[in-house]
Amino acid sequence: MNNWEQYVRKVTPYVPGEQPNSTNMIKLNTNENPYPPSPKVLEALSGFEADRLRLYPDPTASELVQALADYHGVNPENVFVGVGSDDVLAMSFLTFFNSDKPILFPDITYSFYDVWAELFRIPYQRPELNADFSMQLSDYYQENGGIVFPNPNAPTGLLESISAIEDILAHNKEVIVIVDEAYIDFGGATALPLLQQYENLMVVRTFSKSRSLAGMRIGYAIGNAKLIQYLNDAKYSFNSYTMNQTSLALGMASVLDQEYFEKTCAQIIETREWTKQELASLGFTFPDSKANFIFASHPDNPARDLFAALRKEHIYVRYFDKPRIDNYLRITIGTKEEMQILIDFFKDYMK
Ligand code: PMP
Repeated sequence: MNNWEQYVRKVTPYVPGEQPNSTNMIKLNTNENPYPPSPKVLEALSGFEADRLRLYPDPTASELVQALADYHGVNPENVFVGVGSDDVLAMSFLTFFNSDKPILFPDITYSFYDVWAELFRIPYQRPELNADFSMQLSDYYQENGGIVFPNPNAPTGLLESISAIEDILAHNKEVIVIVDEAYIDFGGATALPLLQQYENLMVVRTFSKSRSLAGMRIGYAIGNAKLIQYLNDAKYSFNSYTMNQTSLALGMASVLDQEYFEKTCAQIIETREWTKQELASLGFTFPDSKANFIFASHPDNPARDLFAALRKEHIYVRYFDKPRIDNYLRITIGTKEEMQILIDFFKDYMK
């Protein structure tokens, strides 16, 4: 090793799902939305004046923050926006997890959490989920430096009840608890009402899934004003202009189109429930997902083989070669037509 190399911050990076550059594929591997963004977003995009790009964006993102505050019935002081929820979460790890005690998140969860913990040198522990992938609440009663988990969880799709989340909060009033609600719009009950009671709760959301705007990179956090202020202080110490002009404009347009949002979410939920029935009749087992994906396993067909066979047909799903989950496929819910092709493939394969 060269001398300078010993002073380099070395990290094992997060590996995002593949983004194959092909038109002829069925892409069910990164939980994107199969429907286009709202027509209002497309209108805002075509009406966007390129000349505005000469100017820096509003560093406070005030219009988008206000629109989100109105949408959730909170004050702008309670909203923080960032470049996808990954940016919001990374900034939150940096800001809130500064204890010597380990932060806690489940052993099976979003695989970026341990990467940020390593990057920022935050000690962490990963309590094991129960065999059915539910959280063992008593694991979160120990002393810790903060807690983070997605609800519904990824990649399992399993939703914890509000009473389970409240139980975790009630046992952890001295640390920040982050609930990552990336997939909450597909039928889960949000933890937002608990903000009234718990000033140490922060809820994180994204425009990438339910709002069909993964390519735009918009995420946000909702929490009490003091907590949001701390996040903003960290952000302004890092990069004042995180949100670009187009993200601000298109994000706004999306929030203002409630009808389209509800319609497409309902469509995905309907297709998910249909897909569950079809998968079950083929012998697959899976947790009862409330997200826009299903985490499925088959007793006779190893997930690794299914993954490879699907890939050959240009059907992309996600496979994690990790302990406890290496016999599962995470299948994003696409359009009904796409899911029909997937199911037909399985029928044929298992004949
Ligand atoms: N949280 C969870 C649980 C996720 O699955 C994802 C998607 N990879 C994210 C956060 C980040 O999404 P984005 O940065 O696109 O908002």
